[in-house]
Amino acid sequence: MKTKIIKINPKNIEISKIKAAARILRKGGLVAFPTETVYGLGADALNPKAVKKIFEAKGRPADNPLIVHIADKEEVYRLAKEVPEEAEKLMDKFWPGPLTLVLKKSKIVPDIITGGLDSVAIRMPANKIALALIKEAKVPVAAPSANLFSKPSPTSAEHVIQDLYGKIDVIIDSGETEIGVESTVLDLTTKPATLLRPGGITLEELERVLGKIKIHPIIKGKKVKNIIAKSPGMKYKHYSPNADVILVEGAYQEVKKRIQKLVYKHKKEGKNIGVMTANENHEYKADLIKFVGNDFNTIAKNLFKIFREFDKEKVDIIIAEGVSDKGLGLAIMNRLRKAAYEIIKNPRKASIIKIFK
Ligand code: AMP
Ligand code: MG
Repeated sequence: MKTKIIKINPKNIEISKIKAAARILRKGGLVAFPTETVYGLGADALNPKAVKKIFEAKGRPADNPLIVHIADKEEVYRLAKEVPEEAEKLMDKFWPGPLTLVLKKSKIVPDIITGGLDSVAIRMPANKIALALIKEAKVPVAAPSANLFSKPSPTSAEHVIQDLYGKIDVIIDSGETEIGVESTVLDLTTKPATLLRPGGITLEELERVLGKIKIHPIIKGKKVKNIIAKSPGMKYKHYSPNADVILVEGAYQEVKKRIQKLVYKHKKEGKNIGVMTANENHEYKADLIKFVGNDFNTIAKNLFKIFREFDKEKVDIIIAEGVSDKGLGLAIMNRLRKAAYEIIKNPRKASIIKIFK
């Protein structure tokens, strides 16, 4: 398949280009587009044949449901069977923005979108190109992240090209995304609401509006058997580079000692080792050391890009420092935990949890 790359300047959006991409969506094609979180791979959400192509292009399992993107709040009432008061409050406060709401689905939502669940995940993105595209398409747009299944999410068009060139119709290129981690997914079909995925809107911000929110145990990296039912996507290894990721969590003094020991240990096995640090003045010795940023916003923005950079430079193992679970830190740690095959908590006691491998 020939993939067309359309460059759009976010500061001067040419509507003719948006219209051309929107026509492809209306015809059942696939269009990758920027959102404020990561790039999405869009298809007409009400056209099951078009949606099927998303799963094929990404190699995504069919039981992993998709988020439906809208450009007008009113669309929620068409896609959801019930819109509780909590949803209205959150929509008013955080939309357009990086918050996805899971609501009971209406009849018009095809099963292929929801993986057979009776709920649907909906979000109104804040990116102007995304909003214009959805508006021009005049249909709700199903859009998971525009990467191959299980790979790091794309934060620039270049990442989308790496993963999906030749497999989709259009890639809109408007440079780097702002937030860099995906939207927060909040299930409003439970009481209290359940956080299914931490993301661009923090748990603290949500609790200021709703009061106490339940946190799905897997978010904190707990091993959960038979996770499923609620949000099947959660069971998969995710966001991972080709290199094996080892995450070391805990107090910085202990973390840094442990990381250096791990570097030496794996070096002896002949491995090429990368270290990802949130400390500019680190003293690590390794084959490749990358500074990811020292505040949450910067770390979130750089995280997936740095995973891909490590892969380009062919490291075998990435050892990453953990950060705090507060604010946007919870989303960052969730991505690191899901990417990791080994998590070391409490480095002094050497308790190791292995997941997904
Ligand atoms: P992404 O592939 O990055 O767009 O991720 C979408 C996330 O939303 C996945 O974790 C899905 O499991 C979750 N999701 C989508 N639809 C639903 C739904 N109806 N109920 C619960 N989670 C959902
Ligand atoms: Mg994804």
